Amino acid sequence: MDTYIKDWHHIILNCSFDNTYKMVWAKSLVELAISVTEEGDTATFTFNDISKLCLKHYWNQTIYFELIQGSNIKKPPELLTYTKELISDYVAKVQTNQPIRFEKINFTVLNLEDNYNKAVNKVSNTLKNDVCWRFKNLDGSTYELYDLSLDNRTVTFKMEDIRSIKQYSDYLFSFINYRWTQMLEGFNFSPRISRKVRAIDEDKIKRSSLKKFHKYLDLMCNNGKRTCFYCGKEISDKELSVDHVIPWSFMFSDDIWNLVYCHKGENSEKSNRLPSEEDIVRLEERNATLLTLMEGTSYSKSKDFDQLQLANEKDYVRSFWISFKG
Ligand SMILES: [Zn+2]
Repeated sequence: MDTYIKDWHHIILNCSFDNTYKMVWAKSLVELAISVTEEGDTATFTFNDISKLCLKHYWNQTIYFELIQGSNIKKPPELLTYTKELISDYVAKVQTNQPIRFEKINFTVLNLEDNYNKAVNKVSNTLKNDVCWRFKNLDGSTYELYDLSLDNRTVTFKMEDIRSIKQYSDYLFSFINYRWTQMLEGFNFSPRISRKVRAIDEDKIKRSSLKKFHKYLDLMCNNGKRTCFYCGKEISDKELSVDHVIPWSFMFSDDIWNLVYCHKGENSEKSNRLPSEEDIVRLEERNATLLTLMEGTSYSKSKDFDQLQLANEKDYVRSFWISFKG
């Protein structure tokens, strides 16, 4: 492998960090490099172009999983704050909590162009002040990965280096993701971090229908009536919703031991909040009852039954809840 790519590798694996800025910077640069088509001696990218990609990565990791990107929980990294501000602007505008990928949003059509441009500018400032030059410096040496013009806010690469990046881009992406995941595992309490990072990267986040769980939850019916886990009242068909008691953004999976009926609108997903201890106790009791009810039916041969049994034996509800609370 050429020494240029070895330098990238060395920096990515050994750089110091108390947030994930260097990773979002590196990944965005590689993305821009592989999009270069014209020939010439050099290729130049503006900080604004890089900022847009940084916003994309942080937006997607935040809106689906609320991943924490820095070591200081009380003072989140600036880039995250800017991303979250833009997400709030978006949510206020469209009035929905349904997560959406950054690439699918048209800020102009939504009349949010100003908000978007402001966010891009603020991200650019941080990249200029904190990230672009730090990334090249490691252990007292400066690596000539690119040239910076801080006044013009540009990064310039030699064309031969662009060719190297293109040739080894798969390799670069995978070790940037590897290192980024390692950092996130240090900052976050939630499980399945590497699965989450990969799912975002490969655009493979699917929220599947929870209808298939109705047949189990219906075993809990009172005189044929479905009742709400939260308020205890009857739920009409029109108001019926299945809720993840520990929000999906934490679990990233649909597990019978974490699913309950509730009224639409009482969904914990709405706020991505962790449940109270009272709810946890009630969920544990519900799971014990549900397991007994399933035992007498053909569902006792299902995978979901095995999973529920395991969850009850191993105390999943409480263990996950405690680990997320930190
Ligand atoms: Zn209710």
